[in-house]
Amino acid sequence: QSTLKAGGEDPYPDWKAGDPVPFAALCTTFSKIEMTTKRLEILAHCSLFLRQVLRLTPNDLLPTVQLMINKLAADYAGIELGIGESLIMKAIGEATGRSLNIIKADQNEIGDLGLVAAKSRSTQPTMFKPKPLTVRGVHEGLMAIATTSEGAGAQGRKIAGIKKLLSAADAHLAGKGSKGVDITKDKGGPSEMKYIVRALEGKMRLGLADKTVLVALAQAMVFHEASQKGDKIPSTEQLAKGETILKSVYSELPSYEVVVPAMLEHGITNLRESCKLQPGVPLKPMLAKPTKSITEVLDRFEGKSFTCEYKYDGERAQIHFVAHDAAQEYATAVSAAGKSDKGVANIFSRNSEDLSKKYPDILQKLPMWVKEGTKSFVLDCETVAWDVAQKKVLPFQHLMTRKRKDVKAEEITVKVCVFAFDLLFLNGEALVNKPFRERREKLHAALQPIEGEFAFAQYGDTSDLNEIQTLLDDSVKASCEGLMVKMLDGPESNYEPSRRSQNWLKVKKDYLSGVGDSLDLVVLGAYFGRGKRTSVYGAFLLACYNPSTQVYETVCNIGTGFSEAVLEEFHAQLKELVIERPKPFYAHAAGNNYQPDVWFEAKYVWEVKTADLTLSPRYKAAADQLSNSGGREFPRFIKVREDKRPEQATTSRMVAEMYQKQESVAKNKGPAVDDDF
Ligand code: ATP
Repeated sequence: QSTLKAGGEDPYPDWKAGDPVPFAALCTTFSKIEMTTKRLEILAHCSLFLRQVLRLTPNDLLPTVQLMINKLAADYAGIELGIGESLIMKAIGEATGRSLNIIKADQNEIGDLGLVAAKSRSTQPTMFKPKPLTVRGVHEGLMAIATTSEGAGAQGRKIAGIKKLLSAADAHLAGKGSKGVDITKDKGGPSEMKYIVRALEGKMRLGLADKTVLVALAQAMVFHEASQKGDKIPSTEQLAKGETILKSVYSELPSYEVVVPAMLEHGITNLRESCKLQPGVPLKPMLAKPTKSITEVLDRFEGKSFTCEYKYDGERAQIHFVAHDAAQEYATAVSAAGKSDKGVANIFSRNSEDLSKKYPDILQKLPMWVKEGTKSFVLDCETVAWDVAQKKVLPFQHLMTRKRKDVKAEEITVKVCVFAFDLLFLNGEALVNKPFRERREKLHAALQPIEGEFAFAQYGDTSDLNEIQTLLDDSVKASCEGLMVKMLDGPESNYEPSRRSQNWLKVKKDYLSGVGDSLDLVVLGAYFGRGKRTSVYGAFLLACYNPSTQVYETVCNIGTGFSEAVLEEFHAQLKELVIERPKPFYAHAAGNNYQPDVWFEAKYVWEVKTADLTLSPRYKAAADQLSNSGGREFPRFIKVREDKRPEQATTSRMVAEMYQKQESVAKNKGPAVDDDF
């Protein structure tokens, strides 16, 4: 570890300054990372490699980082990998000259498509020596596949793109007398084939968290700057400072496309000055911790001033606006989605997806609520279905019936009102590090309510138990989910992007009736129905997600609460995702009785609710954190979470925390940690 950290040894000697970063070099580092579970070692391998990139080929730093996190672009660009197994199998067959049946048989036996690919390569005699892959080339190749437009011939084009990459993979092994990759050793070693396939599947499974790459990048940059100044090794303080800077910059501006070039140009020490929150780049929203009662809230916030806001039940949205005369100030201009006389605006989801096509009506009306003198802002808010006749909020179910894409303003039947609760940026200035009281004042001063179109979240600043209870009752009467209780003053009330924070507590009406918080789980498998339902799936196997191991861990079966029509709809959706056997990154108990009839690619996220958690040997959720795994036996289906990707499902840590909390409520103490995500 210490040599890795201090020694300047290059992890991949075969590459000269100015050469494009060899993909084989990155795969060598991936393989080292895959062989250890120690976080510090993983970090060291990662930062050592980035140091070599910085020294030899800094222009390739951006695609290197993007391949390390397996995201080809920032989330808001909407570019996703996650290619289906059958397509990849076809491409492996075509690239290696093996029949699809043999590939399928291998997949059945090995169960890891990356290894199947690596094995396929090794048995293929090489006719010619292809040009070695570069990191930039692989990034471009993957990008071309991910952005292939749908429609006629799309599958063929994707397969051709994959084939092109795979045919050039592991070129460095050819002609060296090597028999290729021995998949029984070292988890398949640094095979390029393996990592390309995993990248295509959308799961690298290296145990390399995005956060680790961020820290490694900061470290590498600090080392690089120190060595340029002639210092051999930077001090621990310098390393810590670099980390803090990059973390805070990235939390406000989660786009490596913006941050990496700025860091190369201005250095890491001055990054805060050159890289700030800016309209056009959505930041990850701050989230809340659940609480079980108002008294728990009072205990947590004792002696602090706080506010209780209505918790509106709609869809989280982040609205970015720049007036025409301020547009030139921003490098990443807000797209012209919501162009008006006043300026341009964009609306993003909780996942940083562009929602402009879903809410053209909001963008159309927005100029009405922007006051004179408000030149740019980033607004945190909830879009809620609105009853025009009764002039009141409608339950979430109404919003769900709205189309998600290509909505035409004139065809809209479900009207929405925007409820604003936070302001993160105003007139060129980031507000995230200001106290909430100040942000709220600025919010109210910059924008004006318009009935049925735009409103400020209702709130009461009180710490009186009875008054809070009344607010909670009123919020429920107003079709809200309960209250959001937030710290008002001091640094604790700052906006914490991408954090599930102690400083925001949610009190939902359901908790009070003894039902816990809902879980958002990924559908991994299904059981055929009985009786009338044999042609559809009658029950489903659901899992949470463990971001540090990138594994889906099963939590429960669900089989009640579905109508016939819903079961048919789910069957139609899910049968397209059937795979022969569980992916290597699915964790489920081994017993024969526990296995579902079919397994699926991880795609859909469902929200379910249950009473308390019980420990069960049948499931694998949080098995490493609890003495046994957390499972829930009788959950109830609430809705499909269309706004969540499988990686955003409830985490195993949250399941563990829910269980521990439920246990400790009786003992009167709760867990008190924030989660980054
Ligand atoms: P998760 O399921 O991951 O917990 P969620 O989307 O269900 O996330 P919660 O953490 O339960 O969200 O609650 C926070 C959500 O409540 C916000 O994401 C936002 O969409 C919504 N919300 C409604 N009113 C408010 C408010 N006044 N302040 C903050 N968030 C609010």
